Amino acid sequence: MNAPESPLRPLPADQRSCALLVIGAGIIGVATALRLQREGRDVWLIDRERVAAQASRGNAGALAFSDILPLASAGILRQAPRWLLDPLGPLTIRPSYLPRLVPWLLRFWHASRRARVRASTAAQAALMTLSAAETPLMLEAAGASHMLRSEGVLHLYESEAELQASQAGWQARAEHGIAFTHLHGAQSIAPFQPGLSAAIVAATFVPAWSTVSDPLQLTLALAREFERLGGRIGRADVIALSSGTDGVSVLLREGPPIVAGRVVVAAGAWSHRLARTLGERIPLETERGYNTTLPSGAFDLKRQLTFGGHGFVVTPLACGIRIGGAVEFAGLDAAPNFARSAALLAKAKRFMPGLRTEGGSEWMGFRPSLPDTLPAIGPSESDDRVVYAFGHGHLGLTQAAATARLVADIVAARSLPIDLVPYRPQRFARGGPGRAARKIIPPTPTENPDRPTQIENS
Ligand SMILES: Cc1cc2nc3c(=O)[nH]c(=O)nc-3n(C[C@H](O)[C@H](O)[C@H](O)COP(=O)(O)OP(=O)(O)OC[C@H]3O[C@@H](n4cnc5c(N)ncnc54)[C@H](O)[C@@H]3O)c2cc1C
Repeated sequence: MNAPESPLRPLPADQRSCALLVIGAGIIGVATALRLQREGRDVWLIDRERVAAQASRGNAGALAFSDILPLASAGILRQAPRWLLDPLGPLTIRPSYLPRLVPWLLRFWHASRRARVRASTAAQAALMTLSAAETPLMLEAAGASHMLRSEGVLHLYESEAELQASQAGWQARAEHGIAFTHLHGAQSIAPFQPGLSAAIVAATFVPAWSTVSDPLQLTLALAREFERLGGRIGRADVIALSSGTDGVSVLLREGPPIVAGRVVVAAGAWSHRLARTLGERIPLETERGYNTTLPSGAFDLKRQLTFGGHGFVVTPLACGIRIGGAVEFAGLDAAPNFARSAALLAKAKRFMPGLRTEGGSEWMGFRPSLPDTLPAIGPSESDDRVVYAFGHGHLGLTQAAATARLVADIVAARSLPIDLVPYRPQRFARGGPGRAARKIIPPTPTENPDRPTQIENS
């Protein structure tokens, strides 16, 4: 058995075929592999590094079930110019990367139209409802229920006007059955979180938002359970997929290919590169995010806090207090700019004057993001033995259990608990969805009128 936190061992060279292969051992791949293994399937999970090597390692730990508003929205488009003026602000585009980003930005803009926002909100709400139901079951199955913290979240505002500007978003959440309480003035906020600066004058408390005690430890716990049930985890760097008569051929950077009956692509921000080898162009971008994890005693933190106007969150974790978020568009290859983590920490200190900022460790992660803020979940158009499960953006931890359930249902050809059309991987292709999408159950979207105004999770 591999010790999941150590580097993975390569798969044995003489064993090169399997029934089901999951590519990518981030939270999406691990949750999916475990789900499939629990259903009695013979599953291999491979990663070119190790378990939770990338985005799933250092994220903010939120199970943000109420975060149903797409980032692609008129509100974000209004805020973006101001944010872009600050080179270390909530949103940055590295100038050298802008030409490559333009097609994605155009799609984002297209997805920000009112009707599209309504549809994305309904789709996101459906996925969140499924995930809120599936997550406790997934944790229980892995003996990890103790990692769930149901303390709710406090969204913080610097003015009543900022709270008022978010009202349409709260109205939309209310229409999807999400409960919340607005708090006005320092005295009503203090019982939820003492020690904030006088600059914070309003807040919204959302009880149904949870956190995990440590996203890395959770992913490792799921991976351990997968191995305990007989699942196999190995190191392999996939360079291409190709359809064969005996199965899907998975070509590796080193060694002979693996032939798999079914393949799940859960390679996070790199997944589009594998889809491309099957001839599919999926406009996946990375929204890079930064944070600093401070020692546990750095602040008397009662629950997760979000500073939507500044694009960062503060989370109490078993390993310390994690502060960060923001979005940087700079692609998959540029070196991290840790001045961004430092800037977020300095901002947090302004709002949390007692925060001790020394002794932290910095991290940068690649969020895998599609222009309409929804993931890609569904079969490949060129070979329906391949199932895509990526593009969860800011919400991969939150939506892992739902994604695992949906992929397992697709693999088993069972009826699906929600309509999959909004997440179809081919939705950005010219001419719309093709063969694979037509196999999916028809839509039953609920709609709500909303124009969100803030980035609220990390
Ligand atoms: C700062 C920050 C804060 C966040 N906070 C939250 C939060 O609070 N709540 C939330 O729900 N989400 C949050 N997210 C988003 C969340 O972390 C991601 O959506 C999620 O981790 C994506 O998981 P994944 O498994 O798809 O990708 P990853 O975790 O990136 O895993 C992909 C894996 O695939 C492997 N891989 C890639 N290419 C190949 C290949 N060719 N061959 C083999 N292996 C390959 C990689 O090595 C990697 O291990 C945050 C993200 C960031 C950056």
